[in-house]
Amino acid sequence: RPVVEMTGITVDIGGTTVLHEVDLRLFAGEVHALMGGNGAGKSSLVKALSGAYRIDVGEVRIDGETVVLAGPAEAEAAGVAAAFQDVDLCGNLSIAENVMIGHEERRWYGISWAATRRRAASVLDELGLGDLDPRQAVATLPPAIQQLVAIARAMVTHPKVLVLDEPTSSLDVDEVATLFRALRRLREHGVAILFVSHFLEQVYAISDRITVLRDGHGQGEYATRELDRAVLISKMIGKDLVELRR
Ligand code: ADP
Ligand code: MG
Ligand code: MG
Repeated sequence: RPVVEMTGITVDIGGTTVLHEVDLRLFAGEVHALMGGNGAGKSSLVKALSGAYRIDVGEVRIDGETVVLAGPAEAEAAGVAAAFQDVDLCGNLSIAENVMIGHEERRWYGISWAATRRRAASVLDELGLGDLDPRQAVATLPPAIQQLVAIARAMVTHPKVLVLDEPTSSLDVDEVATLFRALRRLREHGVAILFVSHFLEQVYAISDRITVLRDGHGQGEYATRELDRAVLISKMIGKDLVELRR
């Protein structure tokens, strides 16, 4: 059974329908790629799942229970965590502070700072960052490590689902490898990861399943290893293979 089952998701923004009855299923211990060209609706679907966009029509089930993702707090309470490097981090604060920021009061009220630091350290360790000095300022870290700090911040609440919208856009090849190592560790721990990307190489390297969007419409869900690259491209751009080869 999927951890997340979004069915018939329709989202209207300012009178324009940006998602038309889209389906998405996420399984524990899998990386699920959400693919599509620019403007396909990937970020809108991510925002619907993380409570930032209102779902006008459709149903979301998490662990089989229907949930209403009325806002980011409700989505987080339902087990959905999103990590955004540019919005979640304060460069002048330390790694430990960034991982714990905002979590202390809500989750750790009455628990010592030492305990919160231990939790931050264990999440960083889970992501393969155990050797970093948690007192280091985030601004001094390379982009990939900053991305991992944002993910660590999201993982503090023990989410079922981790949502990453184009997490590799500011990373070089080696940094992508660092990120993917961390994602594989999370996958081993049973987290369902939604990986938004339009890079074919990355999607084939990391994902177990792929959902394709085009112009706000779902183009189906596929097992990555069974989906031919040329077929994937044709689904993304809406031209059949015969047309593509002409
Ligand atoms: P992607 O992430 O695949 O590039 P988006 O979800 O960002 O696609 O956008 C899908 C479509 O929805 C685009 O046409 C975009 O202009 C529109 N859209 C998304 N969010 C908004 C918004 N807040 N206001 C206006 N249009 C939006
Ligand atoms: Mg876009
Ligand atoms: Mg986007």
